Amino acid sequence: MRLELDDVSKRYGTATALDSVSLSVGEGEFFTLVGPSGCGKTTTLRCIAGFESPTEGAVRFDGESMAGVPPESRGVGVVFQNYALFPHLTVGENVAYGLRFTDPPGGATRDERVAELLELVDLSGFEDRDPDSLSGGQQQRVALARALAPGPDLLLLDEPMSALDARLRDRLRRQVKRIQSELGVTTVYVTHDQSEALAVSDRVAVLNRGRVEQVGNPRDVYHRPQTRFVAEFVGENNVLDAVVESRPETGGLRVGTEDQVFTLSEGGRTFGESLSPSTSDAAPGESITFCVRPEALRVGAGQNRIRGTIVDAEFQGATTRIRLDWSGTEVSVTIDDDTERGDGRFELGSELEVGFNPDASHIVE
Ligand code: ATP
Repeated sequence: MRLELDDVSKRYGTATALDSVSLSVGEGEFFTLVGPSGCGKTTTLRCIAGFESPTEGAVRFDGESMAGVPPESRGVGVVFQNYALFPHLTVGENVAYGLRFTDPPGGATRDERVAELLELVDLSGFEDRDPDSLSGGQQQRVALARALAPGPDLLLLDEPMSALDARLRDRLRRQVKRIQSELGVTTVYVTHDQSEALAVSDRVAVLNRGRVEQVGNPRDVYHRPQTRFVAEFVGENNVLDAVVESRPETGGLRVGTEDQVFTLSEGGRTFGESLSPSTSDAAPGESITFCVRPEALRVGAGQNRIRGTIVDAEFQGATTRIRLDWSGTEVSVTIDDDTERGDGRFELGSELEVGFNPDASHIVE
C-alpha cells in the first residue's frame, strides 16, 4: 500500500503538534520517522492510524482520503511502545484478538493463523503461555504477531523497542526487519534513536518541532544533512559558521571562520536522491554554515587544518572520541584507535592538529 500525507497539520488548542507535514511512503517500504521528544512522531502515527484526525490536510491510502474512516476499517496494524498484551489472555488468545474485526486471510482457521504468526515471530509452541511468563522482547514479538494477524496493508510501529535493553533491542530490530521484508508490508516506524533509524530503514524522515526537516535514504541523511538541525541530530556533526571569502579559479570555495580560512568543495559527494544546497550559489561576503563529520577529521592530515586543545577524550572501543576547544568552538574528532593508540597525543590540555579535505565538508541551510 502507498501512504501519503498531504500538508497535514494538527493543533491542540493553540499548540501546534504537526505543521504542514507532507510525506509519501511507497509500497513495501520501511519508512522511519525520527526526531527528538515532542517533535510530532507519535501524532503523525496516530493521524495515519485514525486515532486522531488532522486539523488540516489529508492522509491517503493508495490515493484515497481516509477522512472519516475509523481506525478498525483502515487495515492497519499497530504496535506501541508498551506492548499492552492482555494479561488474562494466553499468548495465542492475544494473537487471535488481532482477528476480532476480520477473518484470517487465505481461508485459514483462527488456530492455523495464530500458529503461523507465532512461527513468524519465532514463538512457535507459545500459544498457551501467559504473557507474564515471557521476556519483554518476547512480549513485544507477540504484540507484533497480533498486529500482523489480520494481514494488514500497513504496519505502524511506535518505539516498539524502547522498553528493552540494548542487546534485546538489537535482536528484535533485526527480527522486525526480516519479518517486514519477508511480508513486504508497508511500514512506518517511529524512533527517537537516530542510529536505529539509520540501521533499519529504506528511507527516513527527520522531524523537528512538527515539521519535516529532511527525507532521504539513511546514507543520504547521514552524509548530506540539509539543515543544521539534521547535521547536529544525526551523528554529532561539527557544524561551523563561516563567511565566503572568494571563489578560486581552481574550483571550490574559500571561507573564513573566526581565525582561519578553509577551502570547501564545490559539489561534494552525492548519496541517494537529495542534493544539499550547492556551494555555487554562495557569493563572497555571504554567511554560510558547513559541517564536517567527526570521523572525517584526521590527525595531522588534510588540506584544512584545525588546531585546538584537547578538553575530553572518550575511549569507545574501536575508536576514541576527542573533543577539541578551537578558539571557543568545540570540535569533535573520532579517531581510529587501532592506528593512533598509545602515543600520548590524547592528553587533556595538550594541543592537537586535525584536518579535513574539501570534499569531506558540506554546506547546510
Ligand atoms: P515522544 O518521542 O516524546 O513520544 P513525539 O515526537 O512522539 O514525542 P508527540 O507525542 O507527537 O511527539 O507530540 C508532539 C507535540 O504535540 C508535543 O509538544 C506534545 O506535547 C503535543 N501533544 C501531543 N498530544 C497532545 C494532546 N492530546 N494535547 C495537547 N498537546 C499534545
